Amino acid sequence: MADVLLTGVAGFLGSHFADALLADGHRVVGVDNMITGAARNLGHLSTEPRFTFVAHDINNGLEFAGPLDYVVNLASLASPVDYSEHPLETLMVGAFGSRHCLELAREKKAVYFFSSTSEVYGDPLVSPQPESYWGNVNPTGVRSCYDESKRFGEALTAAYGRAGLADVRIARIFNTFGPRMRTNDGRAVPNFIVQALNGEPMTVYGDGSQTRSFCYVDDLIDGLMLLLFSDVTTPINIGNPKEMTILEMARLIKKTTGSTSEIVFRPLPGDDPKQRRPDITQARQRLGYEPKWTLHEGLVKTIEFFSGK
Ligand code: UDP
Repeated sequence: MADVLLTGVAGFLGSHFADALLADGHRVVGVDNMITGAARNLGHLSTEPRFTFVAHDINNGLEFAGPLDYVVNLASLASPVDYSEHPLETLMVGAFGSRHCLELAREKKAVYFFSSTSEVYGDPLVSPQPESYWGNVNPTGVRSCYDESKRFGEALTAAYGRAGLADVRIARIFNTFGPRMRTNDGRAVPNFIVQALNGEPMTVYGDGSQTRSFCYVDDLIDGLMLLLFSDVTTPINIGNPKEMTILEMARLIKKTTGSTSEIVFRPLPGDDPKQRRPDITQARQRLGYEPKWTLHEGLVKTIEFFSGK
């Protein structure tokens, strides 16, 4: 049984990661400042003796009295709508928040796990994106608060690792969907599902020809667990390489919900990546990772969640 401190625990991925750790028999101290987290994501853990919740902003420092084997840092504003509204908080959590987590890991001699993102590749000119690709990032554009916070977080993690100050893991997380995303999260899948269920217009940005590769949350968490308990210290892409256009995704959600909503086109936000697809060769070979859920199965589960079933 390991002692794990997990930041961003009330978020979409954080709460699922906590569930997976608890199901494996570990103890979890969850930390969140609730800027985008939701208490209901943790409601089912209120009677779990191996789970403790601490409301705290890791930008202000991070201390913990007991022993820790792992410090897992998922604290971030991950949706383009959220990070555009809170660019400074986004930058600071990647910088100060990460530093405080790394210092705690160093003090406790714990493994440090950093949740990075496919956004480190920016608007990639190489596809699919292998970990060796350095990316094509606008350092001052509207997405830069997120991209650079994660790039800085990776650099800091790599520097601590290289200096022997902490044993580190870096996950580059690609687009993920599933239950516990927020209705007003602003990302494509929850937007389309909520719009389709309400019979409202489904808002495709641009002409919808931009691509993403969507991974169901259970598969993503499988990959994060494999990486956490591995000895792989270099960045690893975790996601599902099945690529599709955003217009295809809108049509698929319309069909799967049986909605009569019309698909409408809205302006494309700045620096929106034209393509995104993970090369998961490293995850396959070094972690034995393989996504298992079909897009249809994942969408059905997610639609059930948003329908309140
Ligand atoms: N998108 C869209 N309609 C929406 C929300 C998003 O067409 O209501 C597009 C967005 O412009 C992007 C893609 O869907 O091209 C994925 O966006 P999301 O916010 O889910 O995540 P991203 O991959 O951009 O971080």
